[in-house]
This record gives sequence, C-alpha cells and structure tokens, in this order.
Amino acid sequence: MRGLSFLSRCQARLALASNSKSNHIYSRLNLITCVNKINANWQQGRFYCRMHTISSAQAAYRSQGGVLSSENLKVRTFSSHDDDECGKNKLLKHIYSRIKGGGPITVADYMREVLTNPQSGYYMHKDVFGTEGDFITSPEISQMFGEMIGVWIVNEWMNHYQDQFLQIVELGPGRGTLADDMLRVFSQFPTIKDKISLHLVEVSPVLSNIQAAKLSVPGEDVSSIEEDNGIGDKGPYKKCTSKYGQDIYWYQSLTDVPKGLSCFIAHEFLDALPIHKFQKTEKGWRELLVDIDQQDDMSEKLRLVLSPCDTAASIAYLKPSLSATEERDHIEISPGSALIVQNIVKRIKESGGFSLIADYGHDGDKTDTFRAFKNHQLHDPLIDPGTADLTADVDFSYLKKFTDLQVDVFGPITQEKYLINMGIGYRLQALLQKAKQEHWASLISGYKMLTSPDQMGERFKFMSITSKSKNNYIPAGFVDLNFGNESES
Ligand code: SAH
Repeated sequence: MRGLSFLSRCQARLALASNSKSNHIYSRLNLITCVNKINANWQQGRFYCRMHTISSAQAAYRSQGGVLSSENLKVRTFSSHDDDECGKNKLLKHIYSRIKGGGPITVADYMREVLTNPQSGYYMHKDVFGTEGDFITSPEISQMFGEMIGVWIVNEWMNHYQDQFLQIVELGPGRGTLADDMLRVFSQFPTIKDKISLHLVEVSPVLSNIQAAKLSVPGEDVSSIEEDNGIGDKGPYKKCTSKYGQDIYWYQSLTDVPKGLSCFIAHEFLDALPIHKFQKTEKGWRELLVDIDQQDDMSEKLRLVLSPCDTAASIAYLKPSLSATEERDHIEISPGSALIVQNIVKRIKESGGFSLIADYGHDGDKTDTFRAFKNHQLHDPLIDPGTADLTADVDFSYLKKFTDLQVDVFGPITQEKYLINMGIGYRLQALLQKAKQEHWASLISGYKMLTSPDQMGERFKFMSITSKSKNNYIPAGFVDLNFGNESES
C-alpha cells in the first residue's frame, strides 16, 4: 500500500471496507496518510507563529511549578470588573433587583445572566482574551489538538461523503483557534478544501470579532465584514471569507444555521450552558435556587437556598430523567445541552453528517460540579458575578438520552484515547524533527498536557453522534488502532 496515493488509498478503502474489521484497517491507513500528509506539507513558519501565542501562558504556568493541574485547566480572568461609579458590580445589582422583584432565581438563570447577559455577561462585555485576560483550553495549548480534529473530519468525510459539500458547524469557537487549525489542515487536502463552509455559533460580539480577525484574510479590515442581520434575526449576523477561501458565517444559535450535510464540533461549549441543580432531601428532591443573603451588618451577598416545593424545572427536567436506582443525592441537569443534542440528532437524521462533542464530563456519576474560575484558581461562583467563568461538568449519560436508534453514538472516551488513536504521537515526532531545539520542551509539554491522564487526558471526554451506518462502522479516534505500539509499514 505504500506506493498508493492518498486518494487511491481512500478509494480502495471505500471499495473494500464492508465490515468493521476492514473498516478499522483502512481507517488506520487513512489516518496515517492524513497525518503524514500534514507533516510533509507543513510550513515551519506557520507552526512557530502559533507557538509564540501559546508560549506565554504555558510559560507562566510552568514557571510556577511545571504543569497545570487538571482542576484549574480552564482559566479565564479579567481584572477590571464591570463596576458602576460607586464601584458596585452592575451585574450583581441587576441580579439583586431580579431576585428582589421576583424571588430566588434558578442556578440556570443565574448562569445565563453571569455568562451571556448582553451588557455585563462574562463572555460579552469585553475581550476576556485581551492583555488583561487569560484562557487555557486544549486548542490554545497546542496546535496538535485542532490538527487531530481536522484530520478526523477529513477522514470521516472521505469515508462517507466524498465529493459532497460539508458545513463545518462549530459551537462556541472561543478565540477561533480550533477553527483556524482545522482550516489549515483542510488546506492541505484539495479534495475537501473547496467543498466546505464554516458556520460559527457564537453569542459574544467581542469574541466573534476576534474569531473573524483570526480566520479572515490577513490584513482585511474586520469592521468591513458585512453585518447583514441584527442580533436576534434568523440567519447569519456576520460573514467573511477565510484566508483559505471558504465562506464563514456567524450565528446566534444553532437553530439559525442552514440545514444540510454538516459536521458539528462542540469543544468546551456545553459546560458553559446553564444547569439546574437538584438536592435530595427528607421531603424529596428540591431545586437549589440563588437568593440574597442578608448579613447581620445589613450587607448583602448571594447564597443557595432549597425550593420549598417542586419547581417548573424539577417537574419538567428532573422527574422524567430520575432512575429508580439513582444513588446520588445531588444532580445537575442542563436542558440547553439536551436541546443542542436533539437539534444535532435531528439534523444528522435529515441531512446526514457527524459530530464531535468534547468537554470535561462524566457518565452520570458526578454530583456537585458547578464552579467558577478566577485568577487561575477555583472561585466562589456566587461572588463577583461576571468576573469569573462559571462551568459545570457535562453529563454525557444525560445527553445520550436525547439520541435514538436512528443515529450511531460513540463514546464518551477519554481525550487521551481519542488523540492517541488519531495519531497525535506521529504528529509530535514530525514537529520535533522540524522544530528548533529550544521549542522541544514546549511541544512535549503541550503533548503531555493534552494526553496525560493526570492532566487533560482523563478528565476530558469525547463523544460522537453520526449518521446510522450499515456496516458497524466506528469513526476514527474511537477505534483502538494501537498507534505507537509497533513500527509503521
Ligand atoms: N471552544 C473554545 C472556547 C470555549 S469557551 C475553546 O475550546 O477554546 C465557550 C465559548 O462558547 C465562547 O466562545 C462563548 O462566547 C461561547 N458561548 C457561551 N455560551 C454561548 C451560547 N449560549 N451560545 C453561543 N455561544 C456561547
């Protein structure tokens, strides 16, 4: 097989693969070819410009003891609060007045206000990634992360949809780094390069500008990018052409993205969606709500209280999903995540496609995971709202309830397994060969951070929902291909 071109290998694979075993063998060939191809074609210069952008954050962590702990991997801070003239946090005042007017609010309402309130939400009101900010997610740690996902998309497209136009739909693209790395991979494959468009679901105007600046033609005046619809209208609110020539569109919501063959990517998106929290008590399950805590000195702060009786959320979301064997005394439910999965499933059934949901999460066994991060540290989520990131682990077992037998579901598997199965070790070797010696430590540390079980390798999970296959096909990354365990033919 060594002499065959990439395309003929793929064609041979499509012709020959009729059972799961041969699927795996040929997937492996595709992947090795994909990874080798990006390795062979890569421009060294491109690699280094990325390294400089990540090195300061990594260096800051390493100088304080070597590695990021898995507890504080997700760090987004900005130091100046959205305070009014009296120094009071505007968002906190807004939340106080909501509670004073209508009683305690759900944790989901609180999260929604804190993260995406149009005036003061954490993601919305300023550039959280600017000089005063800090942000660490897998795509920001190493280009290898986005490259592996790019290779995954190329592989799945070649296996199932070759020659068809594909919408890449990314939910919550952050700084656009993952999208940038994926587009760079696609640029190495002429067959897919001109057959894709990118659709970004982003609620933050500030972040959508950062994404546009990163993904559009260098030097293009980002403000000149056409804004055709106002916020809240259906359809894209912004569009531009990528530096590789593909169309890019921005939307407020997944429901606004046009129907069509799509690949959905959600990396660290669902953990930012609001959750409801429920506590088992002697009187049964009760929802936890956010209330004002009047202190002795008449000052006020926020606290969690138990609802005295059933709430709309406990009736609508908790009761239908409680199993008779539930042993936990605390449950978190994210209805917004369920809606996203339902929407993805519906679209895949109607138009075909595949998806990758990657986040830190569990399989229905964790309890209280609601937390905040500020200044690289865990932070009380009820203090200084809007100045720290709020997050909760994704419950993959809950998400699976919103799939059905008309789609295939794979995982969740660990990030370590997915990346190793995708051939990240090969990519590291190739980058090391090309890199100057002074960059080796950073490359290796990025690789370890992404894959080591005591860092991001274990806590972060990957799940894929795909069109129903007729031949027990398993997508790349979810098949154990023993990369690195033997010499490559
Ligand atoms: N995927 C990126 C960033 C994750 S941060 C990465 O891995 O680096 C979460 C992202 O989701 C941000 O871009 C944030 O603005 C966006 N976001 C949060 N809530 C959203 C919502 N309800 N709708 C659309 N985008 C949202």
